[in-house]
Formats: sequence, C-alpha cells, structure tokens
Amino acid sequence: MGRTYEEIFVTHLSNGEKVTLPIHTIVGEKPGPVLGISAVIHGDEIIGAEIIRRIYNQIDESELSGTIMLLPVANSLAFESLTRNTPLDMNNLNRLFPGKEDGWSSEILAHSITKNFLDKVDHYIDLHAGGAVPIVDYVYIQNDEALSRAFNFPLLYRPTDIYEGTTATYTVAKGVPSVTVEIGGGPNYNEHVERGVQGIVNCLKHLQMIPGTAEKREDQVVLSEITIIRPKNGGMLVPEFDFEAVGQEIKGQQVLCNIYNPKTFDLIETIKTPYERNIVVLMRGLIGKVNPGDYGYMIGNLETAEPKA
Ligand SMILES: [Zn+2]
Repeated sequence: MGRTYEEIFVTHLSNGEKVTLPIHTIVGEKPGPVLGISAVIHGDEIIGAEIIRRIYNQIDESELSGTIMLLPVANSLAFESLTRNTPLDMNNLNRLFPGKEDGWSSEILAHSITKNFLDKVDHYIDLHAGGAVPIVDYVYIQNDEALSRAFNFPLLYRPTDIYEGTTATYTVAKGVPSVTVEIGGGPNYNEHVERGVQGIVNCLKHLQMIPGTAEKREDQVVLSEITIIRPKNGGMLVPEFDFEAVGQEIKGQQVLCNIYNPKTFDLIETIKTPYERNIVVLMRGLIGKVNPGDYGYMIGNLETAEPKA
C-alpha cells in the first residue's frame, strides 16, 4: 500500500532538457486490478490533468482494491505549446501507438508510454477534450460497453470505424477494457472537471476497486452517427449558440455560426446543423478566429441513436 511518483526518462531534447513520463502509482490495501488513467495525449486538451489531480487527492488507498496508475501529462512537449500536435516533429501522438524506439520523437514518446504505462494496465481510461477553444461531451463505447456506460455521461458514441494508432486502439487490440472520454475544453469549466472526477469514481465502483454501488443513469443516449463539421474557410467565427447548447437537441437545419472575413466584413461561410434531430456533441461557443479545417462542430443524429425515441 502507498504512493509513488516517477518521472521516467524518455529522451533528451537538443537543449539538454529531458522529456519524461510523469506517473503516479497508488497501490491499495487490498488486491485487485490495475486501472490506468491518462490525459493530455493531445497538448491542448489540458482539463484531464486537473481531473487526474483531483482523483489523486480523493482516493483513499486504505479503501482501494488494486492499483491506480495516473499519467496526467502524457505529452509534455505539446502541453507546453498548448497544441494538439507535438511541435518538435509536427506529429499527432495519438496516431502513432504503439510507437517506435528509433522513430520520430513522438514515436519514441509513444513507445515509452506503451512500455511503461499501457502494457501495465488491466483497465484503461483516456481523457480527451475539445481542445483550447471548443467544448465536447461524450464517451466512446469500444470493447466494454458497461465500463463506458459507468462513466455516467448522458451521451455515448459507438463508432463504425476506428482511428488507427491511438492509445485505445492499442489497448483494445490487447483485450484491455478501454474507455475514451471527451470532456470539456475551451474555458475548462469547473463543472466539466467535476463530472470527469465523478465519472472516474463511478467507474472505480463499477470495477469494485472502491466501496459503494455504481450509479446507473437511465437516460443515456448512444449515437452511431456524428458529423464532424470543419469550416472550409478561416475567419472570425461568430456563434449563434453559447456553450449551454452542448448536449442539447436542436431541431431542423439551424445556423450554428457565421464566419466573416475580418478585413472586408464579408460573410464567408455559414455552418448549419445537418440533421432533422441534432444533438450538439462538440461546439464553439465564443467569438474567435477559426482556421480552415479546424474542428468546428460535431453534431450527432438523434434519429439513428439508441434507444429509439
Ligand atoms: Zn484528444
């Protein structure tokens, strides 16, 4: 029983600084499985580091069965620049797993995460977010629907195709029950941090790693169809809805935002909801600049969701 903290050496940067993996290990009083929780695989999705800090403070190891491994900042290079990809080699770390010992710097990092973290866990929760601007709210169903449902978010997503090279692609292939969570982002509201903490606590109860009965909510909706809307043009994005719209239904084709040329004031592009019954999964709720191809909105189709309503 007890706690350890390690900064596992990954590589040296050209300036002599070290890249490390920060891993907290909490070993419980009683035997049980190893649950791994990671965050900031994408450097602009920093809310997960705060969720994990609160979990660290909340866990009582005298009541814990098993071990919790926490990796709060998986990609410290991209955290530093608050960018999705790693500036050093421009790579998206979460497309490179299991990584390579002699590859790009991001592949070296992925290899170290695989060896020192992913290969040691029996259950896995990966925390993502909307990034520095958008807010998002859903949980992926991968290979353990009950564990995904235990995170207790209202919205789940059963994807038809999977991204190659993610941490979860690797753990799912190994048969490790894996949950990818998309929570918060943008202004990083306290409410989202707390829901993330509660989701993890509920998963710990579901796995019988801490005492108590896991809550089950009856109103969960599982989406099978999500449209990712990326603006075709950059400009000043002026939203029609504020962040309250996340998780809400929007009926019919409505304007989500207008994008203006900041110099000429011309209207460059209007983004609308794509379905008859839309649910907002990811959105921009603040006036700000957008680049062509950025994640603009993610809209789920409630007509094809489960349960049918
Ligand atoms: Zn992400």
